[in-house]
Amino acid sequence: VKLLEDRIREDGQVLGADVLKVDNFLNHQIDPDLMTALGEEFHRRFADAPLTKILTVESSGIAPALATGMAFHVPVVFARKHKSLTLKDDLYTATVYSFTKKTSNNVSISKKFLSADDNVLIIDDFLANGQAVEGLIEIIAQAGATLSGVGIVIEKSFQKGRALLDERQIKVESLARIKEFKDGQVIFEED
Ligand code: 5GP
Repeated sequence: VKLLEDRIREDGQVLGADVLKVDNFLNHQIDPDLMTALGEEFHRRFADAPLTKILTVESSGIAPALATGMAFHVPVVFARKHKSLTLKDDLYTATVYSFTKKTSNNVSISKKFLSADDNVLIIDDFLANGQAVEGLIEIIAQAGATLSGVGIVIEKSFQKGRALLDERQIKVESLARIKEFKDGQVIFEED
């Protein structure tokens, strides 16, 4: 999506070898018009799926997930992160290793908000090694719900998440696909 690639070129900051900072429109300050456009693009790409719910992880996934929920007119559920290992009967829980924070968190969703009747689209801000998405897939499996696909705002194609999901034959739609960072510049995949 050109609008998004242009914004990344303009406002994205490459940190070290493999992190992109996009605090100006996605991860701290949020651009609502851009989010709306991205939500509509996810709607176009998953129009055929009989979705009943959008699923994401707090907090950075919420903005694009909400925009997508507004385009589909379905509820948006975000998994909550917590440290406690106490198991609770009323929660679906998965353990996720955080790429940016280098720590493991539990992420949970109340059983009230996901069931075997649901058809789910996962939305997240970034796809790196795929741990966040894998955690959500595990939660969807615990609920016996159906996964229709995964929508990602910014995919770093050089990390292993995309390949993992492709191997499992999960439909993935990424609105920007980064091939590499070169001398502090973002190089996109040709598509
Ligand atoms: P994964 O679980 O795929 O390894 O990493 C995805 C999660 O880590 C995303 O939900 C996002 O919050 C965070 N993340 C991964 N890579 C980046 C990055 O380059 N920049 C930012 N801002 N967040 C990232």
